[in-house]
Amino acid sequence: MIGRVLTIAGSDSGGGAGIQADLKTVTALGGFGMSAITALTAQNTLGVFGVEAVSPAFVLQQMQVVLDDLGTDCCKTGMLANAAIVHVIADELGRRSELPLVLDPVMVSTSGSVLLDPEAVEAVMTRLLPRALVVTPNIPEAEVMTGQVIADLRGMRSAAQVLQEKGAGAVLLKGGHLHGDELEDLLVFPDGREVVLRGERIKTRHTHGTGCTLASAIATGVAQGMSLEGAVVRGNQYLKLALLHAPKLGRGHGPVDHGV
Ligand code: PLP
Repeated sequence: MIGRVLTIAGSDSGGGAGIQADLKTVTALGGFGMSAITALTAQNTLGVFGVEAVSPAFVLQQMQVVLDDLGTDCCKTGMLANAAIVHVIADELGRRSELPLVLDPVMVSTSGSVLLDPEAVEAVMTRLLPRALVVTPNIPEAEVMTGQVIADLRGMRSAAQVLQEKGAGAVLLKGGHLHGDELEDLLVFPDGREVVLRGERIKTRHTHGTGCTLASAIATGVAQGMSLEGAVVRGNQYLKLALLHAPKLGRGHGPVDHGV
């Protein structure tokens, strides 16, 4: 099963994050990637220098022509830019309720640029969170979504519970923004079962696009018929190799390696 993945996300002209990272990841893992682009960014390893959002109607058109012809086995959302775009995506996914969704709640880039209007967070919470098979926040995103301060695994558990009370299905809360050499990601299933994925921090400044890469790897696994847990474990392994082999490009936070 090839596994068709539709990524609905922003373009990173520097090739490290967004649509570019998504399509490289899907390809490297043997899937077939398609895209609906929500925004263009003028970006390199130093930061985001410009953003142009695509009209909501054109985001919808990209989704519809792809879904009506090629079809897809899993959708993944990343940078969504504004509330109007969130609403058209949610409306379309509502009409296709069988499609699994991996929701990467992208809000602000590592370099500090806003990738989702603050007033659109509510739309993501009410329209997409309850629709998602799994949501993949990092610590700052989970703090915005729950209003909680997260300092450790206990805080991560509490935040995951709040997200589920707000309608989330499975939650993958990524612990990479906490301090320390031991990393913990927390995966909580809708029935409350949890898995803690532990790993050593890989010391590199080339971490640009890691969130996009992991969410796309998970979407590819789901599209290929893997269990969610299997897709998350493979995604973590893929990300580890991608970080270890990062090509050291640019003067800032460079991209990870996709081996494609
Ligand atoms: N640019 C785009 C288009 C993205 O989708 C993302 C993250 O999802 C980023 C930039 C931010 O990437 P990072 O925070 O890894 O620098």
